[in-house]
Amino acid sequence: MPELPEAETLVRGLRPALVGRSIVQARVHKPDILRVRPRRFRDRVRGRRIEAVGRRAKNVVLLLDDGVIVINLGMTGWLAPLGLGPHDPPRPTHPAVTFRLDTGRLVFDDVRRFGCVEALDPGEWAERDATFGPEPLTDAFTPDDLFERLHRSRSPVRSWLLDQRKVAGVGNIYACEACFRAGIHPARRGVTVTRDEATALHAGIRGVLGAAVEAGGTTIRDYRNADGASGEFVHRLDVYGREEQPCHRCDDAVERIVFGNRSAFFCPSCQPMIDDAAWAARAS
Ligand SMILES: [Zn+2]
Repeated sequence: MPELPEAETLVRGLRPALVGRSIVQARVHKPDILRVRPRRFRDRVRGRRIEAVGRRAKNVVLLLDDGVIVINLGMTGWLAPLGLGPHDPPRPTHPAVTFRLDTGRLVFDDVRRFGCVEALDPGEWAERDATFGPEPLTDAFTPDDLFERLHRSRSPVRSWLLDQRKVAGVGNIYACEACFRAGIHPARRGVTVTRDEATALHAGIRGVLGAAVEAGGTTIRDYRNADGASGEFVHRLDVYGREEQPCHRCDDAVERIVFGNRSAFFCPSCQPMIDDAAWAARAS
């Protein structure tokens, strides 16, 4: 499932192709990908110019001269720019929406259709934007702020990190990797995390996301960038998907547990569990 680094990589590939283009018409092949009727969506985007291409949390954001197109990639969503550069990516196999531009086309392709394409007015976009937590790669995200908020929570740290209202763009892969880097068991409650550990977690989140952006994201199964290529960070994961393989730090076997309906991967030696009783004993 695409997270911040995958959406960011896609955005960086799309930006030079899309900025300055105008949308002549939108064709909706799969109306269930929208949240409004196709006609209303088409009316909102027709004739609009793409002023900027950005990202917020895990979403690709096309800023128009009037309004905003927000694309949630879901599990298998992908944006294919066609006729917009020297080489086209592989042909989309499951087009859901096609934007016909003054030059070329942009296709939102989504095999499983958990993605979503919306056309919002500036007020609606401001409201949506405000529902997301700080962007972890910006100065808005600080160790102190992370500690203060995490320390008030009784949720498992991994679950807290997946909540987009808390930190924007972090999904299960990078939440597990950040917990490993910080030496924090993913099922520990936020309240048990010390200020020093929160500082390490902040560095872990920033470090893993930054490295993954540089590597062009992680492809577990479906993710592709704007050229149709896979993300290389999958070869540099420490724990995610590495159950029973040796920990890169201590050689013990990486374990997998399930909570909140999601797998969490961790090293039991590098990330010891601290439950409520142990926390109480430690704090007294
Ligand atoms: Zn280890």
